[in-house]
Amino acid sequence: MKTFSIGVDLGGTNLRIAAVTPSGEILEHINLPTRLPAGPHAVLDDMAAAIRQIIDKQTGNLLGIGVGSPGPLELPLGVLHHPPNLPGFDGLNLRTELEHRLGRPVQVDSDANLAAYGESCLGAGQAHAVDSLLMLTLGTGVGCGIILEGRIWHGMQGAAGESGHGPIIPDGPRCPCGARGCLEMYASATSIVRRARELGLDHSAGSGSAAPLTASAIAQLATAGDERALRIFDEVGFALGLSLAHLVNALDLPLYLLGGGVAAAWPLFSPRMFATVREGSYVYRLSMPRDPNVFEPGKTNIAPAQLGGDAGILGAALLPVSQRTTTSA
Ligand SMILES: [Zn+2]
Repeated sequence: MKTFSIGVDLGGTNLRIAAVTPSGEILEHINLPTRLPAGPHAVLDDMAAAIRQIIDKQTGNLLGIGVGSPGPLELPLGVLHHPPNLPGFDGLNLRTELEHRLGRPVQVDSDANLAAYGESCLGAGQAHAVDSLLMLTLGTGVGCGIILEGRIWHGMQGAAGESGHGPIIPDGPRCPCGARGCLEMYASATSIVRRARELGLDHSAGSGSAAPLTASAIAQLATAGDERALRIFDEVGFALGLSLAHLVNALDLPLYLLGGGVAAAWPLFSPRMFATVREGSYVYRLSMPRDPNVFEPGKTNIAPAQLGGDAGILGAALLPVSQRTTTSA
């Protein structure tokens, strides 16, 4: 009989629920809008109903349920603290609320941790046979997950890997976290759009139509040779390089991954990123691969993530399969 687990990816816009085998095959999935205006309990009701619907349809043996959520998330409790992408969810215990609705144990972790875990088990970590890695997810914000010897590193209170809020430019723009010049203010899709507006690019993007300005539209302009758009991605590369230099010096891991939508602009930002890491980290200079774009075992590798938008939901589904002891306090 087939075994499977349930992975849930709770986002500010979309709610995804999937039945996944331990080898990462998605058997079935349900995608719903996250009904934020209806409040957290309506969102939890939607989530529980979709989970039940999938469990009822699958004939195999259920291994468990894992949920990825935007943070800040207190772990292993599963309590949300003023999550900027889930307004109204402050103080909500995601884990117990869902367990109460389902009558089954549930494990909860941050979306960035689970994306890193998914990549570790089924993506780049598996492809390159490394059991420790760090992943930066460049999306609306900048998430970060750290996998050490096959396990998610949570830190004391679940806050490990807040590298998106590491200040790197002293006089940079004020970040909602309270600091100035955080990585997130340069390397997120939101900050790329903000920077484009500052440089007056908002009227030339989107093929001259009324299409909304997006990071991918700005990447297209850069690919076509627009100097202001190229400058923005050069700044993205500089910011990532500074942050990675700190991370490489602190952690000395074999693999650092960049995922999320902005990572697709790799050819635009990676030259400056690699130059900045080389300059800023002697640990990287000691151990960099001969070609920075080709993985080399035993070296410090920085590479694009491999699982795309499924990394988080796959990581969530694998959580109850192999991390039972770390999150079942
Ligand atoms: Zn910040």
